[in-house]
Formats: sequence, structure tokens, C-alpha cells
Amino acid sequence: MFEKMDKNFVLHTYGRNYVNFISAKGSVIKDDKGNEFIDLTAGIGVVSVGHSHERVTKAICEQAEKIIHVSNLFLIEPQAKLAKKLVELSGYDMRCFFSNSGAEANEGAIKIARKYGEVEGKPKRYKVITLEHSFHGRTISTLKATGQASMHNYFGPYPDGFVYAKTMDDIEALCDDHTIAVMIELVQGEGGVESQEKAKVQKLEKFLKARDILLIIDEVQTGIYRTGELFASNLYEINPEIITVAKGLGGGVPIGAVMTTLKDIFNPGDHGSTFGGNYLVCAAALEVLDILEDYKNSGGLDEAMLYFEKHLEKLAENYPNEIQKEVGLGFMRGLRIKDSETLTALIKNAFDEKVLVLKAGRNTLRFLPPITITKEELDEGFKRVEIAFSKLS
Ligand SMILES: *Cc1c(COP(=O)(O)O)cnc(C)c1O
Repeated sequence: MFEKMDKNFVLHTYGRNYVNFISAKGSVIKDDKGNEFIDLTAGIGVVSVGHSHERVTKAICEQAEKIIHVSNLFLIEPQAKLAKKLVELSGYDMRCFFSNSGAEANEGAIKIARKYGEVEGKPKRYKVITLEHSFHGRTISTLKATGQASMHNYFGPYPDGFVYAKTMDDIEALCDDHTIAVMIELVQGEGGVESQEKAKVQKLEKFLKARDILLIIDEVQTGIYRTGELFASNLYEINPEIITVAKGLGGGVPIGAVMTTLKDIFNPGDHGSTFGGNYLVCAAALEVLDILEDYKNSGGLDEAMLYFEKHLEKLAENYPNEIQKEVGLGFMRGLRIKDSETLTALIKNAFDEKVLVLKAGRNTLRFLPPITITKEELDEGFKRVEIAFSKLS
């Protein structure tokens, strides 16, 4: 009944699976037939502290009872607190702007860079270099920033000034007098869970700093402890001028942020968002950060990541013909599968075994579990993934 309703009234932008989930707790999610799935996707990296975390639910309910929204024309106490918390946890000397999504955070990043290039540049600098296989969002300009030609059908003309580098090694040669920024993911999420080499990123950072070209790190997927530190930028020991974040920040409520060392780049009127950073989402995000900060400091997070790693290694050992290599970092991992047909079969088998997994790129089996997933949930999830592999013909 709801399948028909969805098909009749919702635009078909996703190849939807018509399971009907009705409740969830931690990394277990239930459908309307009573089936229990282990969620190794966290709603594509969003439900960072698991489904319906008691403390997040409480924070949302308490905030909703008091006040949800006033507009950014007024002080929003939890927004100020969240900005302070993000900046302090990151260790970067930055200020934040809050958006509702990752694409919007990246729009903000591009606007910051373009304004810097307009004000500081002589001649005006406006070009933004991104990588092939990158993913930066679905708005017109973040789609153009996304270096996958297959996604640029239909929607032109696009804004000018996006330049694509085939690999990290090609970026330097593409920088010219009009280049204002380089935008990269440290682990490409949608592109195939490919992590960049630390030494290369650090070398690029040095090159860009010497030319006053801004480094934008898109941490929409890698951010909020996904790779083991608050930001992957912390793990890579770099100092970008701009960081964007979204997915895991609100634990499920829609919130994104762009952070920058260019603290005075915007004047009132240059940028804005009606919903961005309202009481409700900031109260949720503050709680998420508190939970994950404690988890990190207790050593629990690092331990869980090692445990997760062991499961992946065991799978790779048991299925050497199907699995080419392990990719990614921390809780953002992938198994490169021998071909896309096998991957499609695997994802279907996994669903039949009631474990949720994702696809990335052409042939990568992707795992983005809740960061607080327990050992028991990992054991059960991987038991089911193992069965999914064993059923490949
Ligand atoms: C998901 C994602 C985005 C887009 O975020 P939305 O919230 O869907 O707009 C941008 N960049 C990266 C790296 C992402 O993973």
C-alpha cells in the first residue's frame, strides 16, 4: 500500500528498496513484518551514535518542548555552544556557519573561497580544483564540483570555474593565477572509499599554502569521528583553511557546517540559511558530540575500530577470489569486489540475510556502521555478511 503511494506521489530519484522500517535501536533496525536487520550503513554515515540513542532523543524532546526555531536574526544559544564545541574539539582556529546538508556546507565553502578570491585576488581568482571520482553534492554548483562526468548530464549550463584533476599528483600542475582553492575528500566516500596518502596530502598543503591557494577538505562523510578523530584532517595532521561537515554531526537530524580560518570573510548579507543551526538540530548535535567525545576519550572508539578491522581482515582471508583489497579508514571501509555483478549479488544476499551494507563506486562493498556499534552487533552483522559471501555461486 505504501509502496504504491510512494511511487505515485514521490519523485523517483532513488532505486528504492521497499522494505518498511518502523523502529530502530543502536545498530538494529526493524521492519513492519518483525524482521530485525543489522545496520552497517548508519543511513549512509548519518546515525553516528546509533538509532534512537537515549541521550539524543532526550535532548531533542527537551529542546522541542522549549523552543525550536527563531531565525538567525537572533542569538541561538545551542548554536553558539555547538560552534565553540566543534572549534575546540577540532583544535583549529576557525568560525562556523551552519547549514542543513552537506551540499549546502560545500556551497558555503565555495562561496567563502570565491569571496576570498574576489577581495584578495589581483587578478580575481575563482577556480576551484577537485578530483575525478569525487562527490560534493547535488546542487548545481556542488554537482559541477563533483568530478564525475556521468553526473553532469541534463542540468547545464553550470557555473564556470571548476577544474578536475585525475589524481592528487595532477593538482599542482593545474594551479594557475586564477586558482583560489582545491577541494578534496581525504577518503572518497561515494567514489569508492579510496583514502589519500598522508604524505601526498601534506605535500599538497605545503604547495598551496606557499601560493595562498585555499585547501578545502570535504569532511561531510569523513568528519565526526568516522575515521577515528573528530576530523580526518586531524588524522592527516593538516591545517586546511576550510572544512565542511554534515552527515554524522546531528545523529540523524539535518545539519551541516562550514568552518573556516577566514573568520571575517563574510559580512551580514553575504550568506545565510533560514533553518540552518536552529535550536532543535544544534541541541541534537551537541549531544552527539558529547557522546562521541566521551567514547573517544575512554579508548572505546579505537578499540571498536580495531575489532571492526579484524572482521574485515577475516572476510578478506576467507574470500580471496571475491575480495581484491580492503580500502578506507576507521569506520569508513570498503572491500573491493572482483566485479560489479558479484557486488550486486552480494548486496542482495546481505539484504536477504538481514544485514544492511552499501555500494560505492563501481565495485566496492561499503561499510559505514554507527560509530558506537557494539562488538555483539558487529559479530552478528559480520556473521550475516559471511553467509552472504558463502551464498555467491
Ligand atoms: C554525502 C556527501 C555530500 C552531500 O551531502 P548532502 O547532505 O547529501 O547534501 C557531500 N560530500 C560528501 C563527501 C558526501 O559524502
